[in-house]
Formats: sequence, structure tokens, C-alpha cells
Amino acid sequence: MKVWGGWVFTREGFVEGWLNPLTKELGFGQAADPIKRGVIFPAFRNCHTHLGDTGAREEVPDDLSLEEIVGVDGWKHTWLSNQKGGGSLESGIREAEKFGTGLIIDFREGGVEGLSLLNEIDTPIQILGLGRPGHENEEAPSENIGLSSYVDVGEGTVEELVSKAKNGRGVVALHHSEKEWEDISPVLKINPDFLVHLCEASDEDLMGIKEEGIGVVVCPRSNSRFGMRAPLERMLKLKIDVGLGTDNGMFCSLNMLEELRFISREFPSIPALELIRLLCFGLEETIGKFSEIKIENKQYVIMKEIGENPEMAVLDSKSEILEVIW
Ligand SMILES: [Zn+2]
Repeated sequence: MKVWGGWVFTREGFVEGWLNPLTKELGFGQAADPIKRGVIFPAFRNCHTHLGDTGAREEVPDDLSLEEIVGVDGWKHTWLSNQKGGGSLESGIREAEKFGTGLIIDFREGGVEGLSLLNEIDTPIQILGLGRPGHENEEAPSENIGLSSYVDVGEGTVEELVSKAKNGRGVVALHHSEKEWEDISPVLKINPDFLVHLCEASDEDLMGIKEEGIGVVVCPRSNSRFGMRAPLERMLKLKIDVGLGTDNGMFCSLNMLEELRFISREFPSIPALELIRLLCFGLEETIGKFSEIKIENKQYVIMKEIGENPEMAVLDSKSEILEVIW
């Protein structure tokens, strides 16, 4: 058995090392021959998805606003209500597998039934499904909840859902200030684990988020489709715990390499190593609090070397996955 040798991406950056793909033993320094060369990354993290609408990618109209597509009773709502089974969900998961994603945090729609579909799919990816009530006045399907937004769900109902989730030691996440500014004060009060988007958040909002130790997930490709952009530079400067997500499967592929390359073009002042850190170790502090997720870093993506600089193995548009080790 040949081991993989080359640069290994770690929390400290790139270090020369090797990986035995069978035993998953990882070592540092020069590997003894024989070796195959590649750049070794921990499997990628996708911290925000809606896997359930992946199957709508070919059909989603491009002349509707965000509100008209994903809003309450919007296009997506109708599309989902005509779906049977987990085919759409599964196509998203298979796409994520192909591109070396080891962890997915999914906002699961469709109440109890929607959440249970996730458990029927066999995959090496660790998936944390955050459920939500299927209908108004229904209970959340699990202690882990991913809500549309404070404004959408409404004062009172949010607090009720969150207090039940927290009593069950569940994870609480919401979208916030995606396309327009929304008041953060009631959201800070319920103390969610993380918020998604924050494109229109003010600097004061971001400081409040940092102060409360709330994580943030940004989805730049999805945002750009509707002309929005998250203040990622500022979030990182404030040392907010940030993760990356691909958002709706109908808008963006589940390929985190595409997300990374887009972000590196869209946010050129952010150092590449910092972006790769978000790809492999994003939302680290927040995920550390989740008992359902075990971060063992025993899954790897081997990328083809491109030139001398190991960063290019993921940033170059010609980058290529040589092997995913589950
Ligand atoms: Zn979302």
C-alpha cells in the first residue's frame, strides 16, 4: 500500500507529511517510500444547506426575487409540496460526497417527515439536520432547530420553539438580515448557536454577535445570485466564529471547492490560508458545543498538486480531487 505524501493542511497551516489511506494514520515529516504525491486536506465542512431543494436546480425560475422563490408560500414551497420521498435530498448528499464534504449542517423542512427522510440515506457524511415545524402551531420535530428567520416565524412563536429546543439541549439556528436589515436585539435575547447570512447586518450587530459568542455562517455564492454580499472581512476581523455554507441546493452546487474559489475572488483581501481554514475547520467553536457532531478529522480529501504553492491545490480552477478517504 502506497501512502500519500505531501503538504497536509492543519490548524497551523500547511505542514509536510503523509497519510496512510487504509489505517488513516497521519504523520509529519518526509514519508518513507513508496508514496503517491498530493495535498492532503481534512474533509470539507458545509455549515449551511437546504439539501431538500437540490432537485429543483434545473427548474427554479431565474426571473423571480428571493422572496418570491423562498418566501412563505413562494415557488419553493409549492415545489416541495409536490415532492415525494427523499430523492432531492439524496441527490444533494451524493454531490457533497463526490466533492469531499465530511460535515453538513442542513436546515430541514417538512416537519417530522422531512427530518426522518434524512435518516434513511446512507452516507459517510456527518449530517446534522436542524428541523422546523411542518405547519403553523406544530411542534418542532426535534430538539435541534433551524428556523427561517425571527421576522418570518414571529415574536412569541420563536421564543417558544427556542425555549423547548434549549430545554432539550438542542442546537438553535436562524437566518438573519439576509436581504434587508432586521433588528438583532430579540435574536440576541434568544441566544442562538449560530446565524446565517447577515448580509445587511450593521457593525453594531456584528459586535453584539461577537460579544454573545454566536457563530455565523456565510453563503456568498447564494447571496450573489440576488446581488447581496456578507461583510465577511469585518466578521473575521472581529474574530467571529465563521463557517461557510452553500445554502439552497437549487441555487448552488454542494461543491465546497466552487464556494471557496468564488469567495477568494469576491473577497480578495482575505488571505487564502484563512479561507482554507474556514473550508476545513469553519464554525469550529460553535460546532465544539454540539454533542451530535464528533470532530475526529478522520476523513480526508487528497488534491492534485498545482505548482509549488499548496494553496493552489484547492484555489486553482483546474484543481482536481485525487481521492476522498472516508
Ligand atoms: Zn438558508
